[in-house]
Amino acid sequence: MKNALVLGGGGFIGGHLAYRLKKEGFWVRVVDIKEAHEFWDHDLICDEYVQGDLRDPDLVNKLMKSPKNNGFDEVYQLAADMGGAGYIFTGDNDANVMHNSALINLNVSYEASKQNVKRIFYSSSACMYPEHNQLDPNNPNCEESSAYPANPDSEYGWEKLFSERLFLAFNRNYNLDVRVARFHNIFGPMGTWEGGKEKAPAAMCRKVAETPEGESIEVWGTGKQTRSFLYIDDCVEAMLRFMRQDTFKGPVNIGSEEMVSINQLAEMAIDISNKKLSIGNIHGQEFVTKYGFECPIGVMGRNSDNKLYKEKMGWEVSKPLIDGMKQTYAWIEKQVMAHAQAK
Ligand code: NAD
Repeated sequence: MKNALVLGGGGFIGGHLAYRLKKEGFWVRVVDIKEAHEFWDHDLICDEYVQGDLRDPDLVNKLMKSPKNNGFDEVYQLAADMGGAGYIFTGDNDANVMHNSALINLNVSYEASKQNVKRIFYSSSACMYPEHNQLDPNNPNCEESSAYPANPDSEYGWEKLFSERLFLAFNRNYNLDVRVARFHNIFGPMGTWEGGKEKAPAAMCRKVAETPEGESIEVWGTGKQTRSFLYIDDCVEAMLRFMRQDTFKGPVNIGSEEMVSINQLAEMAIDISNKKLSIGNIHGQEFVTKYGFECPIGVMGRNSDNKLYKEKMGWEVSKPLIDGMKQTYAWIEKQVMAHAQAK
């Protein structure tokens, strides 16, 4: 039986990945600082759930040892201090985001190189791409080769860039077998949908589900900024295919090339709900008065560029955004209703 270690498996992508690994017959250890996964039943995602802080090197040393000491076949490093625009772009969490995630990655890369880890996946982010290539909402450039000269627009992105380089350095100097991918806005059910760490698709679905007929939902900024969003099942498939080939270590984008504006994303959620709602864009002084800080919107345009992935993998992601949004809306609507009833 193969075994896998999913670091940050109490989170959104980690939960879905661990579920898939269990279904494939892996023995799975999940580690997360959270006491439990908020949405998954642990029996479905792992054989062992360890609540622990990966900033602690002694703990990482212990957890990197597989139960029979025969080494982990697959290790996935997904743990990070992160959230949506309201968390990583305001500046208020910069020191924690950099310090916490860097400590995790320093510990994990070091211990993985010392122990019998057969291969390790590191999840970087599209946030590491330079700001100057993402100013035009209709024409962003996120080709892998455009990463340097580096100029990410957030400290979260700088930490990702540092840790990509860290894992690749352990590959060069200690033969650690690494796979590095840059995720572009992954979304779907069983993820954070409220509380400030949720991303745009979940936030739109929640706002639409909560807003009474005839009223308006709030969109941060002009809503003209563009992004692409990849459904979680396509993300997990893309990760596993990348992880399980022997020649290409990345970094490579894992994302969708279906670019939409944030207003279009909001309209999509409204259409799915069958409600009559309007969009109220909020920025400038109105935003400062309401939230106490400038409206965080990130770069003006971002889209995945999948040429390299397709060329190396001979496969591409395919689920249309609307299909993923329908599944996500249905799940978030249920959460909103359950919360309203519990109050
Ligand atoms: P998530 O926040 O849902 O999951 C990350 C998990 O790491 C959380 O459960 C969190 O509790 C855990 N964690 C944080 N600090 C920890 C610590 N000190 N010790 C142990 N666990 C700790 O995020 P996600 O959406 O599942 O993302 C997974 C990875 O992919 C992250 O590294 C993220 O930066 C990267 N990524 C995600 C997206 C996306 O759209 N979801 C996009 C780009 C990159």
